[in-house]
Amino acid sequence: MPLVRTRGIILRSLKWGDADRIVTVYSPTLGKIRGAARGARRMKTRFGGVLEPFGLVDLTLFQKTPEALGQISQIDLVTSYSSIREDLTVMTAAARMVKMVEAITVDRDPNPSMYAALVHGLESLRPDTDVALTTLLFQIHVLGHTGFRPQFDSCTECGTKAQPQRPQWFSPRLGGVVCHDCGQRGVGQMLSLSKGSVAFIEQARRLSMSNLSRLKAMGSVRLEVETAMEAYFYAVVGKSLPTFEQWVS
Ligand SMILES: [Zn+2]
Repeated sequence: MPLVRTRGIILRSLKWGDADRIVTVYSPTLGKIRGAARGARRMKTRFGGVLEPFGLVDLTLFQKTPEALGQISQIDLVTSYSSIREDLTVMTAAARMVKMVEAITVDRDPNPSMYAALVHGLESLRPDTDVALTTLLFQIHVLGHTGFRPQFDSCTECGTKAQPQRPQWFSPRLGGVVCHDCGQRGVGQMLSLSKGSVAFIEQARRLSMSNLSRLKAMGSVRLEVETAMEAYFYAVVGKSLPTFEQWVS
């Protein structure tokens, strides 16, 4: 079946050759797919301005074999989420979200719950809200949806049952908590992660994206969770995400 039709979010749109673009789309039924938009960068093009990241599109793709790069024959914009581009902080948050999905997924591995989280995440980004928190909660969800849920019930080094009343650490490399004794011996990079921070991550993971606005994180919990999740994400995918500080400095 060489003809594929699907809806999806544009994760990335790259210049290719003199006039073309390669577009990466995340689809609820097909997962991450790529297609070439021939002539997309010419003045007159049937793709006219719909190939920007974050856009929700309906796509028709010709594909000779599942491995071959598809040719986009038609792409229609369902919504551009244009308000995302009106605020730099919101745009950074959206860029973080699509990059997380792009980095952590493999091609053609559909995950409808991750797709739903991405759509909900992009829709929740508004300048008058705490977009960095929304992005952090999305990050916790993305890790959970892809089987990289951090381990908190036992030490990731020795397997001892977690003892939240004792000081413990988080190891990005091991993907979970490290007990006090293993921490004393040293197991590579370790970050502090209090009982409150563990509870916040567990709560964020259990709530659906649409209920996450109820969660708040302040002060040291917020900082610990942000630092731990960023380091863990980097350990999993080996790539950094766009940072909010890039725009502030
Ligand atoms: Zn241990």
